[in-house]
Amino acid sequence: MGTKGREIVGVDVKELINLLNKALSDEWLAFYQYWVGALVSKGKMHGEVEKELSQHAQEEFQHAEILAKRIIQLGGTPVIKPEDWYKLTNCGYDAPEDPDTQKLLIQNIKGEQCAISTYQKLIEFLGNRDIVTMHLLIEILEDEVEHEEDLEVLLEDLKSFK
Ligand code: FE
Ligand code: FE
Ligand code: MG
Repeated sequence: MGTKGREIVGVDVKELINLLNKALSDEWLAFYQYWVGALVSKGKMHGEVEKELSQHAQEEFQHAEILAKRIIQLGGTPVIKPEDWYKLTNCGYDAPEDPDTQKLLIQNIKGEQCAISTYQKLIEFLGNRDIVTMHLLIEILEDEVEHEEDLEVLLEDLKSFK
């Protein structure tokens, strides 16, 4: 990033990069949880659930890219080793061991709720500083809010499905 671009960040850049790497680790784990969950899913409304989960997987992947690119702009290095995802994650990884669609939805709703709080806290941490990062985080948060809603609507449909 250029001189003026760095100057307007106005936060402890090292701390910010660390927080963004934590969010990046969450996104990779969320990506995989959705991606593999979509593949193994079985049961009621299997087609719809699989479609939604794999769409969310792609969106979590995009979030990972947005975060990694911003980390680089800020002069940092995106997490290099997958083993570090587990050390840095805020939301953890909930393995889709039970492929039942309803169980998967409940697991992923929990994940989205954690993602929403994580981004909310990050945005609060920034306050009105580093509005470039702030803008990216708000866009991601909007997606996470939509993800939670999509999954909750699907879960309601599934409960009334005969
Ligand atoms: Fe995400
Ligand atoms: Fe999400
Ligand atoms: Mg969706």
